[in-house]
Amino acid sequence: MNVQNPLPAFRPFVAAGAAAQKPLDLVEVRYRPLPNAGGDVLLTNPFGDWVFVTQGEMSALVRGQLDDGTPLHQKLAAKNFIRSKISVETEAKRLARKKRFLAYGPNLHICVVTLRCNETCVYCHASRADMDQVQTDMSPEIGEKVVDFMLQSTSPGVTLEFQGGEPLANFPVMKHIIEYAVQKNRAYGKQLDFTLVSNLGLMTEDKLSYLVDHKVQICTSIDGPEALHTKQRVLVGGNSHREAARWIERINKKYIELGLDPTLYHVEALLTTTREALKYPREIVDTYRNLGCRAIFLRPVDPFGFAKKTAGRIEYDRREYHDFYRTAVDHILSLNAKGEEILERYAAIFLTKILMDEDSNFLDIRSPSGSAIGALAYNYDGSIFSSDEGRMIHEMGDDFFKIGDVRTSKYRDVMKHETVRALVLASIRETQPDCNVCTYAPYCGIQPEHSYRSQGSIFGQMRQSTLCSVHKGIQDFLFEKLHTGDASTVDTLKRWTTIRERSHFIQSSAAS
Ligand code: SF4
Repeated sequence: MNVQNPLPAFRPFVAAGAAAQKPLDLVEVRYRPLPNAGGDVLLTNPFGDWVFVTQGEMSALVRGQLDDGTPLHQKLAAKNFIRSKISVETEAKRLARKKRFLAYGPNLHICVVTLRCNETCVYCHASRADMDQVQTDMSPEIGEKVVDFMLQSTSPGVTLEFQGGEPLANFPVMKHIIEYAVQKNRAYGKQLDFTLVSNLGLMTEDKLSYLVDHKVQICTSIDGPEALHTKQRVLVGGNSHREAARWIERINKKYIELGLDPTLYHVEALLTTTREALKYPREIVDTYRNLGCRAIFLRPVDPFGFAKKTAGRIEYDRREYHDFYRTAVDHILSLNAKGEEILERYAAIFLTKILMDEDSNFLDIRSPSGSAIGALAYNYDGSIFSSDEGRMIHEMGDDFFKIGDVRTSKYRDVMKHETVRALVLASIRETQPDCNVCTYAPYCGIQPEHSYRSQGSIFGQMRQSTLCSVHKGIQDFLFEKLHTGDASTVDTLKRWTTIRERSHFIQSSAAS
């Protein structure tokens, strides 16, 4: 089939008054000079290919000089930058493969079984409630309706993630939901798995046995060394760090007792980077290593929940975050060079797109974002939100992201909700000002809830967005490493893109 090449051509810059130049035989090119790339300039194209050119080569392109057969022409042709050499069919298939998540439907279902929490965190995004506020517990009946709704998803696999508050504070309902979901899924035969996000402060041996027997993955929060963690996450009458550390060790031991590969099966933990945390990049990484964690997610603080009220104490200029990130990841890379396997999650997400030509379907960094079409969040009272962040904004008194109720809404109506359509439109990179011309657009993603909360509209202005600043800073760092790093550093970064499924946690379905 002969398809006419619809790709826009690259037009060199033309000085005012100069004679008009013929467009270059280039696809649409975005460029970014990086501070630590030896003066070279990064070029990307809309398909996700990338290449570095020297400043001399960049000047030649800007002057409109790109002769066939020159080293620059060959270098660009090898990376799909020469328009006449592109196979449109091949690129269309490539794009369709990377966007295949669009055909699935929501696969992540966040279930807030209670807002009650035994800890008080300085940045609490969830707007926790005190332990006596039992009216914020999900009932078994609502839990069943959440499962019924979730199983209508068009996705062949669904993950039910228990969040709070502290989900273990409403453990009987969690158990009821798990057992009901396994039984109901016999008719659907979906790939089903469960995840628990817990501070572990209410864990007991009985609860752990139940969770391990029912193949529930456990994830916790660690904010760094004990002094930092306990200052940010206050456990009345106890030590939040010691409790979490004790249970991480116990759970990891239990996995080994079950004969599971400890390199694959271990407790995952999440960091929330506050202003105080910025002082301890290496110490935070070392805390994770000492707890047996193989991955660390250096997440900045978000503007949701109590974090908005405490911003004066915990927020910071994102340039300080960039320095923190670089120091922490350099430390992680040096550990890898000594044979220790540990990775940073943000880096792994971006590198999978940059190096593997794949999309790892991380919902906050994809285009369009996973709001509603990749994930749904269910509040304890049965309300449905387009994301957990949307639910957090609801707890702050704004219902913008509420798209239904498990007791009354039909799945189709929720997925066709006008808010869902708007969220999709607001998170397509190619249509957003700033993203549409950004060098990192092929690998990046927008979170409309973040723009709404921080800028007052789901259609954000990325050059003023703190999230965009984080994404740019991380991708600058990664591309610099890929360009100037030694072979062993580049090998390590490639290794971080390896995906090994933790199949033990998948529930048996009707077929088994
Ligand atoms: S969010 Fe920022 S870094 Fe990402 S594509 Fe948009 S402008 Fe670029």
